[in-house]
Amino acid sequence: MNNLNRIHAVNTVAALHAPVPEPAVPVDMSSYGEDVFSADVMREYLPKATAEKLLATINNGAPLDPAIAADVAHAMKHWALERGATHFTHWFLPLTGTTAEKHDSFLEIRNGKPIMAFSGKNLIISEPDASSFPSGGLRSTFEARGYTAWDPTSPAFIKRHGNGATLCIPTAFCSYTGEALDKKTPLLRSMQALSASVKRLMKCFGKEEANVKITLGPEQEYFLIDKNFYYQRPDLVQTGRTVFGAPPPKHQQLEDHYFGSIKMRILNFMTEVEQELWKLGIPAKTRHNEVAPAQFELAPMFEELNLACDHNMLVMEILREVADRNGLVCLLHEKPFAGVNGSGKHNNWSLAYGSQNLLDPGTDPHQNAIFLTVLTAIIEAIDLHSDMLRASVTGAGNDHRLGANEAPPAIISMYLGDQLADVIEQLEKGAATSCRQAGTMKIGVDTLPPLPRDATDRNRTSPFAFTGNKFEFRAPGSSQSCSGPNTVLNTIVAESIDRISDELEKLPKEEFNTGLQHLLSRIISAHKRIIFNGNGYTDEWKAEAARRGLPNAATTMDALRCLTKEENIAMFEKYRVYNRRELESRYEVFLEDYHRKIRIEGEIALEIAGSMVQPAVAKEFGMIAKALADAKAAGIASGLAGLEKCAGELGSGLDELSVKCEALRTALGGCHEEIIAAMNDLRLTVDKLERLVPDANWPLPKYREMLFIY
Ligand code: ADP
Ligand code: MG
Repeated sequence: MNNLNRIHAVNTVAALHAPVPEPAVPVDMSSYGEDVFSADVMREYLPKATAEKLLATINNGAPLDPAIAADVAHAMKHWALERGATHFTHWFLPLTGTTAEKHDSFLEIRNGKPIMAFSGKNLIISEPDASSFPSGGLRSTFEARGYTAWDPTSPAFIKRHGNGATLCIPTAFCSYTGEALDKKTPLLRSMQALSASVKRLMKCFGKEEANVKITLGPEQEYFLIDKNFYYQRPDLVQTGRTVFGAPPPKHQQLEDHYFGSIKMRILNFMTEVEQELWKLGIPAKTRHNEVAPAQFELAPMFEELNLACDHNMLVMEILREVADRNGLVCLLHEKPFAGVNGSGKHNNWSLAYGSQNLLDPGTDPHQNAIFLTVLTAIIEAIDLHSDMLRASVTGAGNDHRLGANEAPPAIISMYLGDQLADVIEQLEKGAATSCRQAGTMKIGVDTLPPLPRDATDRNRTSPFAFTGNKFEFRAPGSSQSCSGPNTVLNTIVAESIDRISDELEKLPKEEFNTGLQHLLSRIISAHKRIIFNGNGYTDEWKAEAARRGLPNAATTMDALRCLTKEENIAMFEKYRVYNRRELESRYEVFLEDYHRKIRIEGEIALEIAGSMVQPAVAKEFGMIAKALADAKAAGIASGLAGLEKCAGELGSGLDELSVKCEALRTALGGCHEEIIAAMNDLRLTVDKLERLVPDANWPLPKYREMLFIY
């Protein structure tokens, strides 16, 4: 029996023709943002005074005037109908980590006639029930209502499908008692907290009142494989990752995929993705091949944090949809394939006050007191709360990736680069008087100009790295929402900035500079253990980190515990980001999500091993056993040794398989550690058998097919 499906899949890909490049057409960016209810659209469709009020809320955080809702709803409906939207939805971000939408048409029947209506109330609030979302006990049945509330700071947009369109209104999702059931609400609260703290600090420095803007540029990694392979891998379909698969001889060791020339099929896909994103006003900027075969990256230009988080959710959705249209499947799982790199989502985060990026050291970093103060606050925040930061990136998928030799380890540390580390060291000792200039870097070709050297050389192994004018948190997983990690980051930095302001506000004016100096020096002394500029992938670092007392929560279970620690609850309550119940509910929801996912992985592994692998091996074993008997009966001596060896290997493989399947079946009745151990053990046998069973009879698409044939 040949595996016809696999052969068919390969032949189908082989028959694809790369399109001939089309004749050049001038670039036209007029459709950029055409599906967004943007500031320009507001000015066009709304009375002037209403537009200004709404824009004041969006741009300056002025409280929303409910009286304008009716006008805004009317304009939005008018605009949406012109663009073919028959329906609207409150679009929200439940704790599942995905997006949620429940559509209603604008249709109403008045006097027997259909009209399209949309009221201010429809815009502001909705009660989608949505009682099946995880709430971790926040919604007991007697108060089971869930409400979505309009977030005017993230503009409404239109989502198109084959033959229609829907107006999507970004919303927060809360319970009847006002507790956050989603990822957006705590993020917005944390942004408010950090804005207030930054304003207070800037006042200490005598700065004029200005807006605080928290910025985010999330780099998104993903895999693409041909759909024909995908549907033959029940593990991918069910869990997003392969639970079996022997590493092929060539995987990523030649490093020839990274930044390689992009295959035309993929480039067409990327272009289509960008066109969709641009229509939604999502500023997709960078595209390239990543390190693993079939792995790619998309990076947008940074935007205001709340918007950037919503946009990243749309990026993931559009990647999946456009892949589907192109006969591909986009895998956003953190570790879809063992033995090659997993996918992360680098979280580039910064803070601006007015037009000044507070993490921009300028040309003379040690002179920049504000920069150093903010930097010092961040050092303290990360050292004090690395546990919460680690907890914010937990998940069954990311557990496979963190610390797997390609991604930052589960130990959170900070990388500052040599120049800045030097400044910080001087600051700890006293005034920072000299600055190791970044200088220039000669590259040995005289016809090329000397390049200014970046103040930070790149350290890819650090989970939290300063990269010139922002921090790059590299631990978040590719499928995760950006909201969680940034909610934590904002809150812990707000707390540390406030602690500094507490001290600065007490200082008499003439002692400000020396007082600040002493304060920063003290904070650095106390928290510099979090700074590590070396290679974070090594075992030496693990040992050193343990000596420094840095936490190393290797698994989701370890990491999540800090959500219910009293001091963490106190901090989040103080900043009104999460209350006790909200934190406890998240602990419960994330833990349960983790357990469920591990169980699903275990069950699908067992099913594949029992119903696909075992029959293929048994069949092969039977054929060889028969050949052996036939040869013996016919008195043929040559070949017997070879056949016996094959039969022996397959036979012991079969025995092992049966023992390990039984072990996994038992483990599935127990806890997640047992399931993971049994699954990993079973994988060893299955991957060994993959190499023994004739290629044509192996029932699952192989890594060398999925990762290389597309
Ligand atoms: P890398 O070299 O780290 O791969 P990329 O250019 O791929 O860099 O991505 C860097 C990301 O950081 C981009 O999304 C970029 O817009 C973002 N970024 C740049 N400056 C800031 C900033 N001040 N705040 C937040 N993000 C920023
Ligand atoms: Mg990048």
